Amino acid sequence: MLLHIGLDDTDSPRGGCTTYVAALLAERLLGLGAEFADYPALLRLNPNTPWKTRGNAAVCLRLRLDEARQGEAKRAAIELVDDHGEFWCGNTNPGAVFCAGDVPPAAKAFSDKTVRRIVELEEAESIIDSHGMGAVGWKNRRGIIGALAAVGGTLEGDHTYELLAYRTPENRGTRRRVDPESVRAMDAALGDQTFNNLDERGRPLITPHGPDPVLYGVRGESAEAVHRASAMVRPLEPVERWMIYRSNQGTDAHLGPPVNISDVKPYNPAVVEAAVADVPRTITGGHVIFRVADPSGEVDCAAYEPSGSLREVARGLIPGDQVRIYSGVRELDEGLTLNIEKLEVLGLTEDVELRNPRCPACGGPTESMGAGQGLRCKRCGYRGPMERTLHARPRAIKVGVHLPDRDAHRHLTKPLERYHRERAYVPGPMFRPWIGWGGGPGSWSPSSSAQ
Ligand SMILES: [Zn+2]
Repeated sequence: MLLHIGLDDTDSPRGGCTTYVAALLAERLLGLGAEFADYPALLRLNPNTPWKTRGNAAVCLRLRLDEARQGEAKRAAIELVDDHGEFWCGNTNPGAVFCAGDVPPAAKAFSDKTVRRIVELEEAESIIDSHGMGAVGWKNRRGIIGALAAVGGTLEGDHTYELLAYRTPENRGTRRRVDPESVRAMDAALGDQTFNNLDERGRPLITPHGPDPVLYGVRGESAEAVHRASAMVRPLEPVERWMIYRSNQGTDAHLGPPVNISDVKPYNPAVVEAAVADVPRTITGGHVIFRVADPSGEVDCAAYEPSGSLREVARGLIPGDQVRIYSGVRELDEGLTLNIEKLEVLGLTEDVELRNPRCPACGGPTESMGAGQGLRCKRCGYRGPMERTLHARPRAIKVGVHLPDRDAHRHLTKPLERYHRERAYVPGPMFRPWIGWGGGPGSWSPSSSAQ
């Protein structure tokens, strides 16, 4: 009998990680005799939600287990959230959802919605009740939303994989130690099957910066690829455990079809096709702001300082350029602003200027004598008939998709190298090993302990 266990919102800005709770739970479930039906799902939800704690990740474990032991499985999940949830944090409101049998279509639809916009707890509870699922909510119970979304996140379309390796308790909160050369070597060998290993300057991106227990995460196109890549990464501190997830990371799952500017909603992702309406300006802090317009209205767009080189592209825009803006919508005092996550230049307008001609008598530069007064040579004073001419200036930016620097990507953002790698999920036997624990310093490898 299939059982799906969804978990969400156990972490806080100061620590914890829902994926770590899931990795502990997976070990316990294997001990109960569970057989996993799919890789654990790591689902990133709407990144613009105001009450998310950090990366807005929810997880789901899908397993086959004797019905007699399913009660024990649920108790283990609740116990682990009790033990590892960061309950002191006002914004941490864990939830667990249990679904027996096949995932109902209503839960799948709810999951898609939760990735793309703001949803209400009542809607989640009504789906849970009407399909006989179980749920446990802690504190204000909002975590039930993400837990149900994780259950419904069956990732049947484009998807990616991530192997997460976790630190031992004594090292958490300290600087992560991973040999950067090993990451560069891994990227050189397996960069065509993995993504976001290095930033633009060749520095490893696989180690996060927060206080969470993750030592590193390798993202890629298959479970085998992330496993092979991880085997090339050399940790310089012990790894407590590791697990491979199947995920919507790097798939643009949060971005829907383009909408009218008049339909843009705060805290939702939005894709807008519009014309640049003014000259981009750089404001205090290095942010670049410009306005775009479509027949339904106008809105400000912002390329914030952390987006790095994307600001150069934004600064190169001129009024009349056609763009497709992929963004998160922010509500500021001045109104709505599209926080640019991806900027696609669809068409560049000609950047023309009127230039004064050279003097036909001496070849010197000419100048205007005032409105309607014609031109005069600055060198010889010639005043015969002369016409200004139009000159097209070369454009510094190119048509196509432009992304921020890699360290500013959203988890959900599809990086350029993943374009044309998209493919649907075909269920089949799982790659093994997909989980391991109990390794020690120096001796650890993804294949040293396994299921
Ligand atoms: Zn002259």
